[in-house]
Amino acid sequence: MQSYDVCIIGAGVVGCAIARELAHRRWDRPLRIIVLETHERAGEETSTRNSGVLHSGIHERAGSLKGRLAREGSSLAVAYAVRHGIPLLRSGMVIAISGDDVRQGLWREAASLWRLWHNAWKAKIRVSVVSPSGLRIWEPNLRAFCGIVIPNVAVIDSYAFVQSLRADAESGGVQFVFNNRVVNIEADAGSYIITTERQRLRTAGLINAAGLHADEVAALALSTKKYSVSPLRGEYYELVTESKKHLIRRLVYPALPPQSAGKGIHFSPRPNGQLFLGPNTVPVDSKTDYTSRKTPPGVFVQALQKFLPALEERDLRWAYSGIRPQVKGSNGHKGDFIIASDSEDPPLINLVGIESPGLSAALGIARHVADTTCIQRRFHASNSGTLLTHAVLERRR
Ligand SMILES: Cc1cc2nc3c(=O)[nH]c(=O)nc-3n(C[C@H](O)[C@H](O)[C@H](O)COP(=O)(O)OP(=O)(O)OC[C@H]3O[C@@H](n4cnc5c(N)ncnc54)[C@H](O)[C@@H]3O)c2cc1C
Repeated sequence: MQSYDVCIIGAGVVGCAIARELAHRRWDRPLRIIVLETHERAGEETSTRNSGVLHSGIHERAGSLKGRLAREGSSLAVAYAVRHGIPLLRSGMVIAISGDDVRQGLWREAASLWRLWHNAWKAKIRVSVVSPSGLRIWEPNLRAFCGIVIPNVAVIDSYAFVQSLRADAESGGVQFVFNNRVVNIEADAGSYIITTERQRLRTAGLINAAGLHADEVAALALSTKKYSVSPLRGEYYELVTESKKHLIRRLVYPALPPQSAGKGIHFSPRPNGQLFLGPNTVPVDSKTDYTSRKTPPGVFVQALQKFLPALEERDLRWAYSGIRPQVKGSNGHKGDFIIASDSEDPPLINLVGIESPGLSAALGIARHVADTTCIQRRFHASNSGTLLTHAVLERRR
C-alpha cells in the first residue's frame, strides 16, 4: 500500500489551492501529497459553476472567516491571475437601489444598503456611496437611484484559475488521481487508510475539501454524522441579444441584507465578454440536481428590468447552474465557513460549508489550513519556511 504525508479529498478550487500551498512551503522534508477526485478533471463541481467574482467581503458578517478569507484570498487571487495570465475583468461592483424600489417605499433596500456600507466601514473595504449621476459615470445604461461602488472587485475565469492551481501543485510534486472517489476511511495506527473505487492508501494527514459532499466524507472519517450540507441551487441565464449584451459592463447587484441566502440576482459579466444574469436561490433535494424544474427566464427579467428597462425574456438563453453547499449557523441563518481540526493527531481537517465567497477565499483558506497547529506540529514547518512562503514564494510562483 502506498503511503503519503497528506491526502486531500476533492480537486475543486479549495483542494487545489491547499495542495499548491502545502507543496510550495518549506517543511523539514518535502511532503508526499496526493489529491483524490471523483471526476475526470479538477473543478467539475461548484468551482466552475459560479459567477467568478473575487468578493471584497462586504456581504459577510464582520469578524467572520468568510469576510476575512475573502478579502485576503481575493487580493492574492488578483496578484496570482496577473502573474499567471489568467483572464481577469477588473469591473468593480455596484450595489444599487432602483427608482422602482424608491417608488415602492425604499426602506427595506435602503436599510440593506446602509448595513452593507456599515460592514464595509468595519472591515475597512474601500467603497463610495454614489448618486444617480455618479452611477451614470460608472455604468451609463444603469437605471438606479443610488448605490455603493466597490472599485477593487474583479471577476476571474474560474476554470483557468482552478487548472492553473492544479498545474502549480503538480509542479511542486503533488500527485492528482482522477476518477477516484473515496468510499471509506479508517483510522489505523496513527494514520488513515483511505479506500477509493480503485485503490487503498495510507496517509499521515487528511484534508477533506469535498465541497457538497464534505459532510459525507467527514462522516466516513469521524464514524459519526457531525455536519450537514444542504444543496441550494443557483441558476444563470445568458443575455444573448447582440444589441443589448454590452449595455451593462460591470457587476451590478441589488441591495439585499447581508445575511440573505444569496447575494441576489445580478448582472454578471465575464472576462471573455459574456454577460449572465443570476444566480437565484432554489432549494433542491439532491446534490446533483442541476436542471430539474428550471426557473423560467421571466423571473430573472423581473429581478433586473428595474435596472435595465430594455431587458426582455427573449434576450435570455438558459446557461447553467451551480449548487451551494450550505450549512446553517446556530441561529438558523447562513453559517460561516467551517474549517475544523477534528483530530489533532493524526491530523484531520474538515472544510465544510465552503459556499460563496469560497472561490475568492481559496488562496486565503489554503494559507489558513497550512498554518493550523496540527499540520505545523506534524510536519514541522521551519519558521524560515513560513516566512519564505508568505514573503518570497508568492513572488516566485
Ligand atoms: C451559483 C453559485 C455562485 C457562486 N459565485 C461565487 C462567486 O462569484 N465568488 C465566489 O467567491 N464564490 C462563489 N461561489 C462559491 C464557490 O463556487 C465555492 O465556494 C467554491 O467553488 C468551493 O470550492 P470547493 O473546492 O470547496 O468545492 P468543489 O468545487 O465542489 O470541489 C469539491 C470536489 O470534491 C470532489 N469530491 C467530493 N466527494 C468526493 C469523494 N468522496 N472522493 C473524491 N472526490 C470527492 C468533488 O467531485 C469536487 O470536485 C458560488 C457558488 C455557487 C453555487
